[in-house]
Amino acid sequence: TKLRNTLNERNLDAILVGQPANRRYLSGFTGSAGTLLVSASRAVLASDFRYYEQVQREAPDFELAKVTGRFSDLLAELVTGMAVERLGFESQHVTVDQLRQWSQNAHGVEWVPLKDTVERLRAIKDEDEVKALRRSTALTDAAFAHLLGLIRPGMTEREVAWEIETYMRTHGASGMAFDPIVAAGPNGALPHARPSDHVIQTGQPIVIDIGCILDGYCSDMTRTICLGQPSAKYLEVWSVVREAHEAARETVAVGVTGVEADAVARDLIAGAGYAEYFGHGLGHGVGLAVHESPRASRLSEDTFKPGMTLTIEPGIYLPGEFGVRLEDLVIIREDGVEVLTGTPKEPVVV
Ligand code: ZN
Ligand code: ZN
Repeated sequence: TKLRNTLNERNLDAILVGQPANRRYLSGFTGSAGTLLVSASRAVLASDFRYYEQVQREAPDFELAKVTGRFSDLLAELVTGMAVERLGFESQHVTVDQLRQWSQNAHGVEWVPLKDTVERLRAIKDEDEVKALRRSTALTDAAFAHLLGLIRPGMTEREVAWEIETYMRTHGASGMAFDPIVAAGPNGALPHARPSDHVIQTGQPIVIDIGCILDGYCSDMTRTICLGQPSAKYLEVWSVVREAHEAARETVAVGVTGVEADAVARDLIAGAGYAEYFGHGLGHGVGLAVHESPRASRLSEDTFKPGMTLTIEPGIYLPGEFGVRLEDLVIIREDGVEVLTGTPKEPVVV
């Protein structure tokens, strides 16, 4: 229904959707290949032999169109049969080659580029999606709690990352939302470090950024901890990041912009003298994809609406020394946020 509103708004006869998360969001179909063609009266899912049965099971509201030869031939048949003149397509996801092939076959069709059309619908979560996000986040919390029981100096970053991944997989995750980040000491100064064979030392700050996929929905959380006696500088930086995190969390609400939320955390970090060490945005939406609309950053064009998700993840990265990032996932509500992440924030693990 929401997508069909777009048909009217943009004066389109149909919309073609192939991006996997968008396709799944609209149809329920989780297979790796398929294209939706939605008009005011018909909803078609074109897929090949591998998925005939899965389409009928997962997307019963869609008519299955069997792809037996070239997709562009089938598409031409479908748009002719549906008398489509203006056809919307996902301009960020369709390649130049695809568009050329499709338009050569489907004569008389006007191709209308659509940007972020389904992504904008996906940004507002319904309560079933919120429940799925809660389950996914709870599993990430549980994996972190499990890790705290076994992490110790002498383990490598890679071993720690594997413990997290194993726990998530054996407790229902279908995959990782992204490769776990476990970055100790100087490695933590790289915001997207890869786990290495670096052996974790007593007193070394460790950035742990993890998330899983459960029932299709992602989770995303970062904690920074230190095993044993920390340095005074680490404790100071950690406190600044927590203050920035809390200030941003208290600011985010319906009607606030991504730029405003980002500025609250950024100004606080700058006020503490670390302006140049917070080089990424404050946060992003999480749903079927781990990074999706809205964004909170200096360049964000988003204004928060009820039901949006957002990570709040300020950080300070001191090259050659260490990094600190604290990240929670929240749902934006009328008068503030509902924090989904349940893991406490503690700078030191004894
Ligand atoms: Zn993260
Ligand atoms: Zn994140």
